[in-house]
Parts: sequence; C-alpha cells; structure tokens
Amino acid sequence: LIVLGIETSCDETAASVIKNGTIILSNVVASQIESHKRFGGVVPELASRHHVEQITIVIEEALKEAGLTLSEIDAIAVTEGPGLVGALLVGVNAAKAIAYTNNIPLVNVHHIAGHIYANRLIKEMTFPLISLVVSGGHTELVYMREHGEFTVIGETRDDAAGEAYDKVARTLNLPYPGGPHIDRLAHEGKPTIDLPRAWLEEDSYDFSFSGLKSAVINTLHNANQKGITIDSKDLAASFQASVIDVLVTKTIRAVKEYKVKQVLLSGGVAANKGLRTALEEAFNEMPDVDLVIPPLNLCTDNAAMIAAAGSVLFERGKRSDLSLNANPGLDIEHF
Ligand code: ATP
Ligand code: MG
Ligand code: FE
Repeated sequence: LIVLGIETSCDETAASVIKNGTIILSNVVASQIESHKRFGGVVPELASRHHVEQITIVIEEALKEAGLTLSEIDAIAVTEGPGLVGALLVGVNAAKAIAYTNNIPLVNVHHIAGHIYANRLIKEMTFPLISLVVSGGHTELVYMREHGEFTVIGETRDDAAGEAYDKVARTLNLPYPGGPHIDRLAHEGKPTIDLPRAWLEEDSYDFSFSGLKSAVINTLHNANQKGITIDSKDLAASFQASVIDVLVTKTIRAVKEYKVKQVLLSGGVAANKGLRTALEEAFNEMPDVDLVIPPLNLCTDNAAMIAAAGSVLFERGKRSDLSLNANPGLDIEHF
C-alpha cells in the first residue's frame, strides 16, 4: 500500500509518501517560519499564499524522492482539519484535484490523529493506549481502544502547551516559535522561581496554562518595577518545570486508571528535551508500559504522519469523496 500524504493546516507545506503504513519513502516539509517570524506568529493570509506557491513543488518533490509516479499511488491522505481554513483549503483542493484526475481514492485525516500516528512510524501500536498530545493548538490526553478510535479524556481549558511556550518566549523577547528557545534556556538555568501548577479538580485530566503564563509575566513585571533583574534562564527553567510536572503527573495517573499498555508522545511540544527526559525517567519505573517518543522531525508538523494515519484508516475502509471540504473545527472523536 502506497499512500501520498498532504498537510497544510498551519505554516508547513508538506507532502510524504509512505509504504505499508510505516515505511517513509519521502517526507518533504517547506516551512514558512522565516516569513512569519517578523510578525511574531503565523499570519493566516500569508500562510495561505505560501501554501499556494509551494504545494505543487512539494508534492512533486515527495514523489520524486520516493522514486514513484502518481500511477503507483494507492491512496491520497489529506488533512481535513483542524487548522487555518485558508491554509487547509490549499491541501484539500490539491488532494481532490490529484485524486480526481488520476482516479486515486481519497482519505480525510484529522491533524491531531496524524500527530498521534507519527508514533506508528517508529513502533507498532499496542492497545489500549494513551497519547499525550502537546502542540501549538492542542493539549490533550487521548485514549485509544483500537485503531481509528479516539476518546479525549482531558484537554486544555485555555491555552495549549505550545501556545504558552510561544507567549512566554515573546515576553522574554525570544523569536517565534519560542518553544525551542525556552527549552534551550531552561537547560542552562535552575527552576528556582516558584510558579503555580494548575492541577484543577482532583479527578480531572484537563489542563490549564494561562494562569502559569500570567504568573511568568507578573513575575517579570514586578521585578522590573522593583528594579530587580530576573535571570531569564531560571525563569525559563521554572516555567518548563511547571509545565512538565503537570503533563507527566496527569499522564501517569491516566495510564494507571485506564490500564494502558502503551503511551505515545505527540505534537510539536513533544520535541521538548525536558519533557522527553521526564517521561523517560517516569516510565523507566513502569516496565509494563511501553513509552514511544518520535524523533524531532516527526513531532512538528509533517505529512508522513498524515500518510501514516491515512494508511490505517484506508485499510479500515475509510474513504472521502470530492465533496470533502476543509473543516477548521474538526472533532477528533467524529471525523
Ligand atoms: P496543532 O498541531 O495543535 O494544530 P501546530 O500544528 O501549530 O498546532 P505543532 O507544529 O504541532 O503545532 O507544534 C508547534 C509548537 O511546538 C509551537 O508552539 C512550538 O513552540 C512548539 N515546540 C517546538 N519545539 C519545542 C520545544 N523544544 N519545546 C517546547 N515547545 C516546542
Ligand atoms: Mg507549525
Ligand atoms: Fe500540528
């Protein structure tokens, strides 16, 4: 089974060819970070325009690297949502056009399902499992009883983890996207500043990061007013310690309650070194639970993950037709 994946939900134009659901034949990502950097975040209109310019080039490159032509593609998997509507539309329309003109079946994929299936490019999934999804727009614990079945057992009530990283980075005058910069600073500093942890209700798997973000901003503001200088390395380390503490603690509690066999780390913030290490240490003590962490290039947005999810969904009979439309608010439990 050869699947072409297409991903344009945010600021990466990506195409990839996957064989039998797990073998990457090509994985091409055209990042727009440089264009959005000077605005401090993703500008939707700019993103759409870049996708239009890049999409054909990226798809052709993915096919060329895989050494295949469209006649050898069995299915096209495309991100239907969630994401920026103008960005999603470019990928969806490219996928539909290629599917129609070449008579190739089409499969619609949820972007976060893609992030989760990035793990299957590393290791076969063992059910039941839980994925800790931490990305620019999402922070959630997703329970899977089997392939293609997603149950959200907890999610953020305000900011996503990546969003909090990017906002805190902005306060510290670090470039966009701020996650990797905070991660680097955090390793040079010490978590000496007392910052809150939002545990919420005792039995809740939900998250909240806006209070933490405000606490970081207030800490800087108060220090400024008093003429005290705060070491941004220590502040980054303290912020990161709070985020990781909550993420790891809630994941472990969910793993025990739902008696899962495997834990998958997914989304752009999965690239965080501190989080990766903390999870590895925690699960070293739980040898019955298999922890999977994808390499960095499969954590951030890419199309290999969309093709990986699409391969499994296609084999289970999922098909889309030419009425497929971009859905910026797509729900992972029903797509
Ligand atoms: P979503 O997947 O929710 O639609 P997105 O696709 O924009 O959102 P991703 O590409 O999955 O998000 O992840 C991007 C986010 O990951 C950014 O917020 C970025 O700062 C964060 N990130 C990347 N590397 C790191 C890191 N090392 N530490 C912390 N955060 C990181
Ligand atoms: Mg991105
Ligand atoms: Fe993403």
